[in-house]
Formats: sequence, C-alpha cells, structure tokens
Amino acid sequence: MKKLPLKWKLTILYAVFMILMTALMLGILFSLSSSEILSSVEQDLEKQVFEAFDDIKWDGSRLEIDKDFYDVENGIYLSAYDEAENLIGGRIPYEFTQEVPLAEGMKRLTQGGIQWYVWDAASDFQEYGRVYVRGIASITEAESSLKVTLRLSIILFPLLVILAAFLGYFFVNRTLRPVAQITDTARAIYKEKDLSKRIGLTGEKNELYQMAETFDLMLESVEKAFEKEKQFTSDASHELRTPVTVILSQCEYLLEDEKLGENERISVEAIQRKAQNMAKMIAQLLFLSRTDQNRQTLHKEWLDLSLLTEMAVEEQEEIARKKEIRIETDIQEQIYGYVDETLFIRLWMNLIGNGITYGKEKGWLKVSLKKKDGILKGVVEDNGIGITKEQFPHIWERFYQADASRSGREDSGSGLGLPMVKWIVEAHGGEISAESQYGVGSRFGFCIPVEEKDVPLGK
Ligand code: ADP
Repeated sequence: MKKLPLKWKLTILYAVFMILMTALMLGILFSLSSSEILSSVEQDLEKQVFEAFDDIKWDGSRLEIDKDFYDVENGIYLSAYDEAENLIGGRIPYEFTQEVPLAEGMKRLTQGGIQWYVWDAASDFQEYGRVYVRGIASITEAESSLKVTLRLSIILFPLLVILAAFLGYFFVNRTLRPVAQITDTARAIYKEKDLSKRIGLTGEKNELYQMAETFDLMLESVEKAFEKEKQFTSDASHELRTPVTVILSQCEYLLEDEKLGENERISVEAIQRKAQNMAKMIAQLLFLSRTDQNRQTLHKEWLDLSLLTEMAVEEQEEIARKKEIRIETDIQEQIYGYVDETLFIRLWMNLIGNGITYGKEKGWLKVSLKKKDGILKGVVEDNGIGITKEQFPHIWERFYQADASRSGREDSGSGLGLPMVKWIVEAHGGEISAESQYGVGSRFGFCIPVEEKDVPLGK
C-alpha cells in the first residue's frame, strides 16, 4: 500500500467507502423490510381469522360454512374445527402435515423446511358449541420475494463495486491531473535546467489552479534572480578583466627594469603570479557565464584530434618535468573529427593540468586517445593524491576545491576547471566520467561521438 500511487490509494479508499455504505444501506433496508413483511403477515392473518367467523353460520340445526371460507387470500389458508378438534371445513396447506393442537393466539413453527404462522381463534355457536378457526400462512413464501431481491443484490453487488472503483478512478484521475502537470513541469525544469518553463494550468480555478499559479509566480521570480546573478557574474568578470590586464602589463614593465632590487623583484613576481591566476579565473568565469546565457557557441571544424592531443601534452610537459612526473601517451594516430579546436585543447589542458597539479612528485600520468565505432575516447590517468569519497561527488560543482593545501600547488586554483570540462564534453554531445581512490590516483575519461570518417578532408 505504501508504494501505491496516490491516485490508486484514493480510488481504493473511495471504492471501499462506497461498498461499505451500500452494504450498510442494503443491510438496514433488508432487515427493516423483513420485519415489516412479517408483521404485516401476522396482522393479515389475525384479521382474516376473525373475519372468517362471518362465513360460519348456525341456522338452528346445521352449521353452514360459506364457500368464501375456502378461498386462499394472500397465501392464508383457513380451516374450521369443532370442539372435539375435528376438521369441519376449510383448507390446509399441502405441506402442513403435522398435527398441531388448537390453542388460541399466534404460533410460529417449522414444518417440511417451511416456516409457518398459525393463528387459532374460537367462537361459540349456541347449541353447536365452540368452533375453532385456524389461519395458516407460510412465512417462507412471504419472505421469498424479499429473498429474490436479496439474491439479485448479491449478484449486482460486485458490478456495483467495479462501477464504484471505475468512477472513483475516473474522478480521482481528473482531479489529480493538474498535480501531474505540476510534477512534469518541475521535472522538466530540473532535467533541462530551463527555468523559463511554466505550469500554465488552465480550466477550473480551484485550489490546485491557485497552487500552480503561485508556483508559476515563484518560478518567475526565481528565473529573474538567476538571470540577475548570471548578468552579475558576466558584468563583474568583464569589469575585472581590464584592471588585471593593467596589473599584468605593469608587472612586466617593472620586471624589465634591470635596476629593480632583488626584494622588489620577488614581490613583483609574486604579484604577477597572483594576477595570472586571477586572469585565468576571470577567463573561466566569463566562459561559464557565456554558457549560462547560452551565448557560448561551438565552432566545429574537421580536425586532426590526435595532433591536437599531442600538442596539449607537449605544452604541459614543461610543468610536469618540474615535478618529475612522467607523461606516457597512447594516442591512436590520425583520428579526425568535427570539434571546436579551442575548446578541445582547453579540455585536454584542464585534465592533464589537474593530473600534474594533483599528481605526486616522480609520479606518472597516462594520456590516451582512441576512436572506436564513431566514439572518441579520451583518458587521463594519474597516480596522484586522489579524491576522498566525501569530496568526490562535488568535484563538478563550480568553485569546489577539495582542500587545496594537500596538493601543495603554487597557485590557488579556482574550482572552475572541471565544470568547464564537463560543459565542453556535453556540448559536443558526449559524456564525462571520473574515478578516484584517495592516496592511489584518479582517472578522468570522456566519450564524444564523432563522424565515422577517418580520412582528413581534401586527402
Ligand atoms: P581546480 O583544479 O582549479 O581546483 P577543478 O575544477 O579543476 O578546479 O577541480 C576541482 C577539484 O577536484 C580540485 O580542487 C581537486 O581537489 C579535485 N581534482 C581534480 N582533478 C584531480 C586529480 N586528477 N586528482 C586529484 N584531485 C583532483
């Protein structure tokens, strides 16, 4: 029951309620009608027995019984007896065989599987003496019409249950349809990360309509707040770009001065390093804010991806050498595909750069690129510091840095590299994956579908 959808729970509840109500109503109805029928049979019997004495006459010498006495009215049989209890006229039901002594008043007895009401009354007829009139009515017969109705109800009851469940489902489904619409919209917003979606419920202006309308209003303000935030990031990064460029050029200018003292040189170089980090971070921020505002476009070209990968490795080799990290490559030759050159290089630079930054001194880094069945597979594997299980789920989040101090890196990093890498891979229709073991190493891989055409254009 716990796992049943609300729709079904409400339907079952409604059907059970309807069944109980109907069963209760039928029960009350039958017990009332049954007692009503019995009391009316009883009254009828008493009345007919007393009226029957009008059909018996004593003319001074003979007792005459009218032929009306022999009629069976409303299932009531009348019979007359003399004082010695001998039958002197009337009729007895065929099934009523038992000898029942005459005794004034009402009796209820069962004979031959049938229940009977027997009413005896007596009257004195002058010299003839006492005459008894007995009225017999079958209760079973009186109740049989009720039984037919009962049986019919038992047959109709399952149909009623099905009808109740069906109607219940129909109404519950109709009532809950707006809820499904609200859920679908919320899910679409979550999946497609599109805050411009609205529920836009139409129809009856009930409580659910008001709820959907309120949700839409809330989405409106959330979307506006998000837009503002995106705009702020974009504006702030633009504004920061100029001062950082000025700081960098001033640093270069100062460093060119041969008269600069040793201490001053160390300070300016430190400023330059920090400014370079800042410039990198601003560039990453600008990139991500462009992706948020759907302004980042892809300029795909038919390129030698093997060559681009080798170039990216070469560029990072210098930094790797400083940490005595050995880079091993396994790059399949002449892989061609349509990709955005700048972004493809940036993807490699980030993954390889991280491999070195978070790699151990004198460690190794494996870079591989393969293409199989139209899928480009790139992997960067290191035997570096690794990522803990707690930190691992957050590495794709913006500005997330898993304890920068443990890497012993010179620059402070930004926590924007992996979100950027993820966007690049996904923008090319691919998927990114990562595995890591703390203290052992990490493995970052991506799969991008590229056209099944291995020959470069023009060849
Ligand atoms: P940054 O490197 O600038 O901090 P990233 O987005 O590139 O930002 O990476 C986010 C975090 O993921 C890093 O701070 C680091 O803790 C972790 N990380 C990324 N790559 C590796 C790796 N190869 N080995 C260990 N940790 C890594």
